[in-house]
Amino acid sequence: MKHAPGSFSKNFAWHGTGLRKLQTAINAGYGDKLAPVDRQIFRADCGLTGVDLIPINFFLHNKNGQLSVDELVFQAIERSHSVRFDRLSLFALHLNRVGGGRDALSGRQIVSRPAMWANEFVRERLWFEGAWRSNALLDASLDAFLNDRMKARAEVRTKCRTNYRHMFQLCDYWPAQLGIINSGAEQWIASALFLTWDRHILDGGAGSKSALLEIIETDEIAKLLGVPEDYALKQADQLSNLYVDIGRLDRFDTDIEIPTVLIEASEEAELSWLDQEESDEAVQRRMVERLEQKRDRKKATDLKKLYNNTCMFCDVRLQVSRDRFYSEAAHIRPLGKPHNGPDKKSNMLVLCPNHHLQFDGGILRLRMDGSSYKLVSKIPGHPLNNKKVVLRHRLDDTCVTWHWKWFGSKRS
Ligand SMILES: [Zn+2]
Repeated sequence: MKHAPGSFSKNFAWHGTGLRKLQTAINAGYGDKLAPVDRQIFRADCGLTGVDLIPINFFLHNKNGQLSVDELVFQAIERSHSVRFDRLSLFALHLNRVGGGRDALSGRQIVSRPAMWANEFVRERLWFEGAWRSNALLDASLDAFLNDRMKARAEVRTKCRTNYRHMFQLCDYWPAQLGIINSGAEQWIASALFLTWDRHILDGGAGSKSALLEIIETDEIAKLLGVPEDYALKQADQLSNLYVDIGRLDRFDTDIEIPTVLIEASEEAELSWLDQEESDEAVQRRMVERLEQKRDRKKATDLKKLYNNTCMFCDVRLQVSRDRFYSEAAHIRPLGKPHNGPDKKSNMLVLCPNHHLQFDGGILRLRMDGSSYKLVSKIPGHPLNNKKVVLRHRLDDTCVTWHWKWFGSKRS
């Protein structure tokens, strides 16, 4: 199928400011508020005029004449500019779900996809066997693809090619040094998945965990992330729980108090129902277990506070709503059978969900290096390989050694 170029042939350089300009435009256009804004008001306030007016159509989500609030808008407004924002913006362009209006007759939400050719390019040409291939971005490859898919004159296609590849330049992906382009997805995958789910729901999709996982698979999000499919699905499986817990799109509403309270309330309800069926002894046993669980949670909470919810491995402080940050407490030697790790802070780390997963799977291990610790990865070129871990609490060396040996003796 042939696509129209849209306004993609207009100037994408934004006077040398790159995607920083997009972030500035979002801040100005939304008036620094996490609330939907009328398209016309955005246009008047965003600081871009004429040929610069590309962001709306290619990066933001529209619904019924209003620009939506989603993870991209959230990142733009709540965080200072970094290459992570640029990479999330490129992902938004590739995700290519930019909303639309309602069909006048059926009333159904219409999903508009103005840069479908870019989405197809990534899925069909750029991604191959788990990674992005740099030779796909060479003139010959891009020109052949655009010639095949785009309904436009030759000079328009050339402009599109130049603008599109410029986006990869802005994201530090181009020019490429190696055959494979490292997308660095582990740094922005949580935001990318959240953005995917936000737009899926904004477009009328279901918010259940199974629906969230399905969209990752059917829309081939792994390819847009530049990672292997099983890696994307594993991350999605874990992060979808978090996404549901923090209220999906409701996380932008600062008046809503979510997870711990709700989770505890539902546990309480479950417990009181069980009480009626159980003997006094069983109830007592459960009470003790519950108290222990509470104590465990407190240890984890204290430790997360000590590290200010910042991942000890990558220093990312994952922001999940206007005033909330998310981290996980990982046990170095797992609790319970069969590993029987001790339940104490010296057997715990504070990590982001990505590195929790990689640490639990042994892809990342900690090695004692004199009096400090270094990260060692089984993946060649892992960005955290050899990084020194800065500690604010003491670790139990027997647990660290256990983890090192356990995963050293197993094949990855
Ligand atoms: Zn991390």
